Amino acid sequence: MSTIMDGKALSCEIRAEIKAKIDSQKEKGIEAPSLAVVLVGNDPASKIYVRNKKNACAEAGITSYEYTLPETATEEEVLALIEKLNCDEKINGILVQVPLPKGIDEKKVIDTISPEKDVDAFSESNIGKYFLGNAKFLPCTPGGILHLLDKYEIDVNGKNCVVIGRSNIVGKPMALLLLQRNGTVTVCHSRTKNLEEYTKNADIIIVAIGKPKFLTGDMIKEGAVVIDVGINRLPDGKVTGDADFESCKEKASFITPVPGGVGPMTIAQLLLNTLEASNDK
Ligand code: NAD
Repeated sequence: MSTIMDGKALSCEIRAEIKAKIDSQKEKGIEAPSLAVVLVGNDPASKIYVRNKKNACAEAGITSYEYTLPETATEEEVLALIEKLNCDEKINGILVQVPLPKGIDEKKVIDTISPEKDVDAFSESNIGKYFLGNAKFLPCTPGGILHLLDKYEIDVNGKNCVVIGRSNIVGKPMALLLLQRNGTVTVCHSRTKNLEEYTKNADIIIVAIGKPKFLTGDMIKEGAVVIDVGINRLPDGKVTGDADFESCKEKASFITPVPGGVGPMTIAQLLLNTLEASNDK
């Protein structure tokens, strides 16, 4: 039987700590941290993500400002907004909701955010910093996962860690952060042959591929830790992860549920990064 890693509860704990810190700073006359959220276009999922992030900010006592540009906005207009926010002293963190509409160079936009305000840690400059192990901001999903591992006292040192998925926002940074904790890390992806050979030997598996119930109990060893990053919407509207929770939980020592595992931790890390950005003023 496995322990279910409650990301929702831990996220609430972290948010409450952030709020307490901000409240005590306010009593000393220190302004609340602030986050600028930039939304370009009408993508319905992006609108929901932005709303959730703004609500989380409000609950934690972080001031958020939304900047909405139309679908027809040009790259120059988006870059001009970022430059303006970079110079705006009242803004501590800047987050650009992706994907951006076609014709706008996402990488160029993200790299224009001042590294001190890049709370998603997506810019080349911040990727370089956490590659070298001296980051101020951790990328939100992998960083949130580290908090979960810490909460459940899961030591990475010397463990066989298998990361499935190699995206720039989850798989690659996750592998780096586990390596920094002295894990022996293997990154598997869509071209990996005989994936089970790796997963069956893994002490810790992080699965982030966007394929519902891909990782099944027969692919893992007894006592493995399973961290499920996937968010997949099924035809019936329910959300499921990349791991088959029912079969994996029979063998895993620890497992994250979906929803309520990694998702809430991603937001908690974003709030932590915003607080950190404001402490640097
Ligand atoms: P992505 O969609 O950019 O890329 C998918 C990755 O999976 C690729 O690296 C690919 O090589 C790998 N892959 C695809 N099929 C595979 C297979 N059959 N075997 C092995 N590897 C395979 O990845 P992403 O943006 O990291 O998103 C992955 C999932 O995580 C999605 O479901 C996404 O919604 C979710 N996600 C969740 C959070 C969160 O906060 N919980 C954050 C980001 C992404």
